[in-house]
Amino acid sequence: MPERTLLKNARVLACSGDPEERPRDGDVLIEGDRVAKVAPHRLDADPASTRIVDLKGATVLPGLGDAHVHTSWPLDFVFDHGAIATTPPNKHMLDVAAVARTFLESGYTTVIGAGVTQPEDDLLAKDAIDRGLIPGPRIVPSGPMVAEEGGLGGDGGLMDVVTNAKDLREVVARQCDTGVKALKLFISGDGVVPEYPSEDVYMNDEMLAAAVEEADRHGAFITAHARGSASVAMAARTGVRIIHHACFLDGEAVKALEARRDDVWVCPGLHYLYAMVSGHAEPWGIAPEKVEAAGYPEEFRSQVEGMGMLRDAGIKILAGGDFGHQWTHHGTYAAELQRYVELAGMTPVEAIHTATRNMGPAAGFDTGQVREGGLADLLIVDGDPTADITVLQRPELRRAVLKDGAFAYVNPEVFP
Ligand SMILES: [Zn+2]
Repeated sequence: MPERTLLKNARVLACSGDPEERPRDGDVLIEGDRVAKVAPHRLDADPASTRIVDLKGATVLPGLGDAHVHTSWPLDFVFDHGAIATTPPNKHMLDVAAVARTFLESGYTTVIGAGVTQPEDDLLAKDAIDRGLIPGPRIVPSGPMVAEEGGLGGDGGLMDVVTNAKDLREVVARQCDTGVKALKLFISGDGVVPEYPSEDVYMNDEMLAAAVEEADRHGAFITAHARGSASVAMAARTGVRIIHHACFLDGEAVKALEARRDDVWVCPGLHYLYAMVSGHAEPWGIAPEKVEAAGYPEEFRSQVEGMGMLRDAGIKILAGGDFGHQWTHHGTYAAELQRYVELAGMTPVEAIHTATRNMGPAAGFDTGQVREGGLADLLIVDGDPTADITVLQRPELRRAVLKDGAFAYVNPEVFP
């Protein structure tokens, strides 16, 4: 008989798709790793065979997810990629483990890798988590980022560098053979490096189509750093699954995304731009002039506008945002959702959907809703995140996190 847990006297936020959903009174029965029953009333259970946990009105929602994660960036990361690459791997992996734990303790049960600094960071973390050695979320592991020779990152320092479709196919196959499931390609520039502006386009349709096909053959998928509209359109028409940033959009890009509404997701990273243009990085030497020179203020405005276009077009958004800088510190991941509410006009529930019901299918997991038969990855918080989205950012309100039906984190301050 599978292990049974009854979460009693809960307020359940199922994330069933209603943009106006509010938490409702209910009980949740978990059997093994799945939700067995969600009832709008009290359920009876035999305490001899069921662990009964009285939540006293706390909210149960699906565990959150972040689709743009760099586990390689330690808690004290200061944008020194070179130093991380050369840190002895044994020391570095403890930093990665601390990042994994921080995600879980922040209510995040799923992360999708967006490129690593040491090649096996995501893979080793995933393995240790899956074997129960360290706490952490489900990881869809990424490998080293892939760049085109001559393009951003293509100097060969930290990324895999390719020149044509055949090369790219080989790199994808090689990474997949090590267990990588989310491959990260650089197909546009980035204002932060002025020689490689956001509107630059790297690689081409033939290369991306080859990468998508090869990844698919291995049960993996392609994600792309694409800031300018031409790169977004190319990613959309060639079958890239997750498009990161998409700061600039035009009619062609939106049309290409619309044509793939069911199997493409956009992961903007709005909080990062917000923090940059709001001067949060200044104490770490990123002066307003540098932010201005990077074109970030315009990019920020454009991204806010673009999110409205995506919403109107019914394109699915994924929460995720390059967290791990000192000014977007690990553990503050849900700030992304707050920006969606405050800047992009989403209801709190719509913002939560970007981290839950949109995330499960994008990651390939049966997660993201509190649904009978679904995996019991759940977050328990005091307060109502549909009334105040910042509830999800407050550690003292976080009671517990369940993964695979088991308590994976319990707030020591909340439970005796
Ligand atoms: Zn990133």
